[in-house]
Amino acid sequence: MTRKPPYQMPLAFYLGEPSTGPLKTVGGVPFSKLVTLWIPRQFLTSSDVDVEAFVEDVNEKLAKRRGYVLWDGQILFTPLKMSDSIELSYEGHDTLDAPPYRPWGELEREYFGLKNPYQMIEDYLDYTQSSISARILEPYLFANERISAILHGRKDNYYFYCQCHRADVVYTTAHRLVCMGCGAMHAVLRQPRTFRPKRVLTAQEWSDFFDDDGTRREEEIDLSILDFREVESIDMLWTTEKWEDAKHEFVFFARSSPEEIAEAIRGTERDPSVFLEAGWTAVPTSPPPALQVVGNSVDVDLMENAGHSIAEGVASYLAARKISDKLVTSVPQLFKGIELLLKSKLQELDARDLQDQRNTPTVLKRLAGTITDRQSCSAR
Ligand SMILES: [Zn+2]
Repeated sequence: MTRKPPYQMPLAFYLGEPSTGPLKTVGGVPFSKLVTLWIPRQFLTSSDVDVEAFVEDVNEKLAKRRGYVLWDGQILFTPLKMSDSIELSYEGHDTLDAPPYRPWGELEREYFGLKNPYQMIEDYLDYTQSSISARILEPYLFANERISAILHGRKDNYYFYCQCHRADVVYTTAHRLVCMGCGAMHAVLRQPRTFRPKRVLTAQEWSDFFDDDGTRREEEIDLSILDFREVESIDMLWTTEKWEDAKHEFVFFARSSPEEIAEAIRGTERDPSVFLEAGWTAVPTSPPPALQVVGNSVDVDLMENAGHSIAEGVASYLAARKISDKLVTSVPQLFKGIELLLKSKLQELDARDLQDQRNTPTVLKRLAGTITDRQSCSAR
C-alpha cells in the first residue's frame, strides 16, 4: 500500500506569537512523558512549595511500592529527577478530592507486575490543589511489548485523537491502547483481540516511520487497523482519563451533526477562526498514521497533496521577500505540487503509467505521449 506524502492536515497552529518560527512537534524529546502530581500539604508554605522534598517523597513511595497510580490512571514507574523540567503550579492549600481507590486484584497485579502500587486515596486528607508537572524519560511500551495495530474510527470515518492532539493511539501485543504521540496509556483490554497483525513494530520503529523527522517516513508500511467500534464498549482491565476524554470527544465529533459541532466549538480552542482572527497561521502537519496506511482513492490524495504543496510553496515564496531562507522551502514545495498535479493528470488519463513510481521528467514525457495519442485519436 502506498504511503502518502506528508503535509495533508491544514489545521494546526503555531503555539507562539504570529510570525515567530515553528516550534518543535508535540513530544519533542523522543519517549518523554508529561506527568502531573498533586502536592500534599506538608510540602507547602504560605507562598511556596519545597519541590525537592516533595520529589524525594514521591521517589520514596516509588522505591517502596514500585508504582504510583497518578490522578488520571497513568502509572508512574520511573523515579523523578530534579532535571525533569519540573514546573510548579502553586494553587494554595485547598484540599483536592483524591481520586477514588482503584481495585487492585489478581489481574492487575499480574498485568502490571506490581503487588500494591501507591494510590493517592491513602493520603486523601493531605492533597492540595497545588501540583507539579514533570517531563520524565520513560519508554512508551513495556519490554517485549510491540505495536500491532493503529486505533482508527474507520467505520465512523473519523480519526481517533489523543488529548495531545495526535492521532497516534495504537493497540499493542499486551492488549493495551497507548498513544505514541505522548506516551500516555489509554486503556488495557481485559481480553486480547483476535487478529493476525499485518506487522508489529517497536516504539523506535514507530517513531522512525511516523514522526515528522523519522528516518523511514518515506518508506511504505502496512499496519493493521483496529476499529474504534471494536473497543468502544468492551470490558477493560484498566482505563485512564486520557481514554475517557478521547473517547468522549471522538463520539461527539464523529457522530454529531455539523450544526451541533459548530455550536459546541464556537469561541473555544477547537474553533480555527478564533486563531485565524487573532493573526495565527494555519500550518500543514503530517497526516495521521491511519491515513498513511489506509488505502484511499489515490487521485484525490494526489490532488489534495498538490494543493497543500502549492499553498505552502506560495506562502514561503511570499515570506521569502523578508526572509530569503524561505526560498529553500518554497522551491521544492512548488516543484512537488507541480509533480503531483502532473501525476494526478497522468493517472486520470492512464493509471497504469504510474505503477512504476516514475520521476517527474518521465511523467512529463508520458503525459505528453498520452495527450498526443489522444489528440491524434480525436483528430482522426
Ligand atoms: Zn497522546
